[in-house]
Amino acid sequence: MKLQLQSKELFERARINAFKYMDNIEDMRVFPDQKSLDKLEHFDEPLQAKSADPFKVLQSLQHFGSPATTAQTGGRYFGFVDGGAVPVSLAAKWMSDVWDQCGGLYVISPINGKLEMVCEAWLKQVLGLPDSTVAGFVSGTSMANLSALCAARYHLLKKLDWDLNANGMYGAPPIRILAHEQVHASVKKTLAILGFGSQNIEWLPSDDQGRLELDSLPKMDNSCLVLLQAGNANTGAFDNIDWVCDQANAAGAWVHVDGAFGLWAAACKELRHLTKGLDKADSWAVDGHKTLNTPYDSGIVLCKHPDSLITALQANGEYIIYSDRDPMLYGPEMSKRSRAIELWATMKYLGTQGIDDMVMGFHKHALRLASNLEQLGYRVLNDVVFNQVLIDCDDPDKTEAAVAYIQASGKAWLGGTTWKGYPAIRISICSWMTTDEDIDILIDLFADFKKVET
Ligand SMILES: *Cc1c(COP(=O)(O)O)cnc(C)c1O
Repeated sequence: MKLQLQSKELFERARINAFKYMDNIEDMRVFPDQKSLDKLEHFDEPLQAKSADPFKVLQSLQHFGSPATTAQTGGRYFGFVDGGAVPVSLAAKWMSDVWDQCGGLYVISPINGKLEMVCEAWLKQVLGLPDSTVAGFVSGTSMANLSALCAARYHLLKKLDWDLNANGMYGAPPIRILAHEQVHASVKKTLAILGFGSQNIEWLPSDDQGRLELDSLPKMDNSCLVLLQAGNANTGAFDNIDWVCDQANAAGAWVHVDGAFGLWAAACKELRHLTKGLDKADSWAVDGHKTLNTPYDSGIVLCKHPDSLITALQANGEYIIYSDRDPMLYGPEMSKRSRAIELWATMKYLGTQGIDDMVMGFHKHALRLASNLEQLGYRVLNDVVFNQVLIDCDDPDKTEAAVAYIQASGKAWLGGTTWKGYPAIRISICSWMTTDEDIDILIDLFADFKKVET
């Protein structure tokens, strides 16, 4: 069998399909209807022996795939702190997809290697991080948290005279992990992957906004790893990074900040106070694909101790051709997508002012939404310090019914959560596409629900 040669017509077909999708984004349901979901059965088939017509392959995706997408690139997807995608970032990714660069080594993709260096410098600049900070470009904050905690573990054990790479965890001196109840699921997963076990964590209480209770912080020493959060996934709240870092630095502890979406507050003049003291931490994790609105997958690990990150994530092989800076040494992956390309395009396009304006825009939408919902009789459960609005109704059943009502409308999508033991509604504003009119549509939906539920 001879594979069909690449044909430009195939790409032309993909382009036409993609443009149809773009043209329709504001009119399509934000979550697919049941009919579209049922049609996903189309894909339930055994893999056939003979080669398929590539146009038919694309046609399946167009007919059965695209109607079962969520309208994340539109303005009314308010679920999960999922960002949209700034057009130039999507276009740059599209273009570089054709290059199909393996980003692991400089010699395999000089352009990706170069743009990682540029993005590293720019990220330090906009987030106000120390000069020694290096960046690894990974799939998302889950991988960024994992990479940072690998570096932290290596670093702390080394200071305790233990060579982790040689001796592993067997018989290693214990690391004390200090985390509060509201750390993100991905942080808990990372702790499990790294073999720390949930029982060995010193779990600390959090306050009504999901911030670490400062009084609860125990006396630290140089075996401590402190896990902080810039942007709670429900409330958007920020831990007191400045105060904790001062205590931790005096004790020789390592502070990691999970700022998947919230770290971008540091790039916004009016919100920068939320991340005060950020530069005093040791490592940070942030996403491009949330607040910055790059396409998926784009996460970044930042670490003030380059040697610890690189040694913890070492990769040796006789055949590897090393250069001055090889991307694969800054993250867990070897072969990887050259994701710095669209990250660079996004930052280059927006500039520091554009990033500032976009982040501030999310905050302003969130404030207006919260005050309107309060007027409608919903309870706003959080201090709206960033882009998250957490609300509920006066009874839990109504809260759940409101979520279902809005999800079923197809005009917007948001998710439910549990807050302090009760159902709550979580609204994330983090798409560059969201306009005042989109916020008005959401407010109207909440107003309509008040009418139908009485
Ligand atoms: C989304 C999120 C993560 C996980 O990031 P991914 O990019 O989904 O891997 C971690 N922490 C917080 C606070 C988040 O919001």
